Amino acid sequence: MQGKLLLFCGPSGSGKTTIVHHLLQNDPRLKFSVSATTRPIRANEKDGIDYHFLSVADFKAKIANHEFVEWEEVYTDRFYGTLRAEVDKIWMENKVAVFDVDVEGGLKIKSIFGDLLLSVFVMPPSVDELRRRLHTRNSETAESYQTRINKAEHELTYAFRFDKTIVNDVLTDALDDAAKLVNEFLNT
Ligand code: 5GP
Repeated sequence: MQGKLLLFCGPSGSGKTTIVHHLLQNDPRLKFSVSATTRPIRANEKDGIDYHFLSVADFKAKIANHEFVEWEEVYTDRFYGTLRAEVDKIWMENKVAVFDVDVEGGLKIKSIFGDLLLSVFVMPPSVDELRRRLHTRNSETAESYQTRINKAEHELTYAFRFDKTIVNDVLTDALDDAAKLVNEFLNT
């Protein structure tokens, strides 16, 4: 069976993950599509909940097996991808699949699912604010901080390719905006 999908994209530090978590906690129609990745697990993460954490060899075997809707090598040897089985499982449960992926992956997913999917771009209020937010995150090393800033600035130029945009300045407003967009999409 084919259901609907919701895609949230935006640079690291835009707050898209906070928005996605809030929606998932408050709307039982939604279910998070857990991506696969080869990056190391962080202290606050759980395998199978935040990501399916795979070795590079396992990830490559799944690519060869055509098990991904889309996949990407976001940073060197850091693979991320959406498993076909994950989306099928969510639809079998009659739920709406929610994606939190990077812009390139998001655009691929958008081109695959067409009108079944609402794509939302989450913007930070400014690049300076984005830098400040990434700086205060302690999970990043100095090197990956600069990599993420560069990627984020590039990603901001893609906002116009998404169905809707949310500016995450005041978080409570952004959460309300996101819930409204989801309701409009699911009630039509
Ligand atoms: P993080 O390492 O901070 O969890 O994520 C790094 C980047 O990879 C983020 O922009 C995140 O949205 C993206 N990402 C997460 N899952 C996927 C996926 O399934 N496919 C793609 N293409 N990117 C993903």
